[in-house]
Amino acid sequence: MAKTAFVDFKAVKAAITMEQVLQHYGLLEKFKRGADCLNGPCPIHKGSNPTQFRVSISKNIWNCFSECKHGGNVLDFIAEMEKCSIHAAALKAIAWFKLDPEAMAASDGKGEPAESDVRPPVAKPAAKPAANEESSEDGGRPQGLPNTPLKFRLDKLERSHPYLLEQRGLTLETIVDFGIGFCSKGMMADRIAIPIHNAKGEVVAYAGRFPGDAGEDTPKYKLPPGFRKSQELFNIDRAVKEPADLSLIIVEGFFDAMKLHQHGCRKVVALMGSTLSAAQEELIRQHTNSQNHVIVMLDENDAGKAGREDIACRLSKFCFVRVHQFEQPDMEPEHLTAEEVQQLMEGIR
Ligand SMILES: [Zn+2]
Repeated sequence: MAKTAFVDFKAVKAAITMEQVLQHYGLLEKFKRGADCLNGPCPIHKGSNPTQFRVSISKNIWNCFSECKHGGNVLDFIAEMEKCSIHAAALKAIAWFKLDPEAMAASDGKGEPAESDVRPPVAKPAAKPAANEESSEDGGRPQGLPNTPLKFRLDKLERSHPYLLEQRGLTLETIVDFGIGFCSKGMMADRIAIPIHNAKGEVVAYAGRFPGDAGEDTPKYKLPPGFRKSQELFNIDRAVKEPADLSLIIVEGFFDAMKLHQHGCRKVVALMGSTLSAAQEELIRQHTNSQNHVIVMLDENDAGKAGREDIACRLSKFCFVRVHQFEQPDMEPEHLTAEEVQQLMEGIR
């Protein structure tokens, strides 16, 4: 029967763990064990940094945040190590771990039901983080208190303000698309008002950006009192409508997100800072599965570098994560040219 020539990759993947494979290569003692992860130097590009390569134990996947800048499942790992195809990697795994090839082949041809039987628990999202997990990570704020949608809209915003067009390089189309503009009266008077939507697309706040270099005692951004920034991800409502196979880009600021969007990279969200709150992590988890890719693209400064390591570690528990590093210090996604964004998009699809 021709069928025996086929290997059910999913069954092989489900039958072996990354831990076993690292053990097979004699690498396990180089790895440090975390809560649900193994950290060590990357055996693929043979790096030395002990945190550059991470295995998620529950998801049975790996990620190299350094030179490789990608990750995969257990068969991808063997294929990378052996420089062979996935098929060859599966055959090697069968041999090394004395798996039953008959059983492995048997589920082939049964189609989808077999997949759900043997799929490792990666696809099953862990139970929602408990309220206490949230409050401990999110500044002690009570969880489950979403921002209330606003009952008003700021109108008569001046769209073609020189700060937006000239200093930030936004097009009128982007300005209108994001609903931003210069506000002349009210709480956001003399500021650029930026509506923030929740995941459902409801406006929950306006952020006010001072249009220019804010002085010592003028805050760059003004947020309404009581608004919990940590509960939202700027542009999440639109990013989640983009195709699932596109990578989700995570940036720090409103203008990073708007600029990338303007250059055609529409699946982008902004943290409104350089850290990821527990609520933001949960938002990404809700809209991501173990096959999705996320790219963390923070500013190339100390805060961005510190933030991206932590974010990558946390998100890699439930999706593929890549950290984007800029070559120039202090570079920000906002300053990428349209061509650079296009190149980036081609590189990540
Ligand atoms: Zn690597």
